[in-house]
Amino acid sequence: MSRAAKPKISTQGPSIKGLAPEDDALVEAARAAIRKRYQPGRHHIGAAVRTAAGKVYTAVHLDTYVGRASVCAEAIALGRALHDDNTPVVAVASVRHPRPTEPNQAIGIVAPCGICREMLADFAPGCRVVVPDEKGAHTRTIEALLPNKYRRPG
Ligand SMILES: [Zn+2]
Repeated sequence: MSRAAKPKISTQGPSIKGLAPEDDALVEAARAAIRKRYQPGRHHIGAAVRTAAGKVYTAVHLDTYVGRASVCAEAIALGRALHDDNTPVVAVASVRHPRPTEPNQAIGIVAPCGICREMLADFAPGCRVVVPDEKGAHTRTIEALLPNKYRRPG
């Protein structure tokens, strides 16, 4: 869930080292979403997904008073895309807006949580996910981010 501690990432700006232009744009779409809707205790994470048709869907997470009822931004963005577009989701990016008291006010890239990885593996197999690294960011397949995924027998 989004309440889990996220690494503090200094990545910022419109051009992220290591990303293709279309993935850079996806990160910016996620940033625009959370920049627009950020509200402490309500919305901290923004996500954007791109479909094979090239459409981009964004969302912010819903941080509820009872934490386990919260819904991640990735899940909402994925649901919007699945509802609206018949082509597969091929790329995902997530960002975290800092709290006002944090010294680093950059909206940094974050990797999806484990629950979102499960959801993406089920509903967007083969998609590429933007993940932060020490130089900026890179993409990995959802399968690489969720090794040995549970599968129902039969
Ligand atoms: Zn999540």
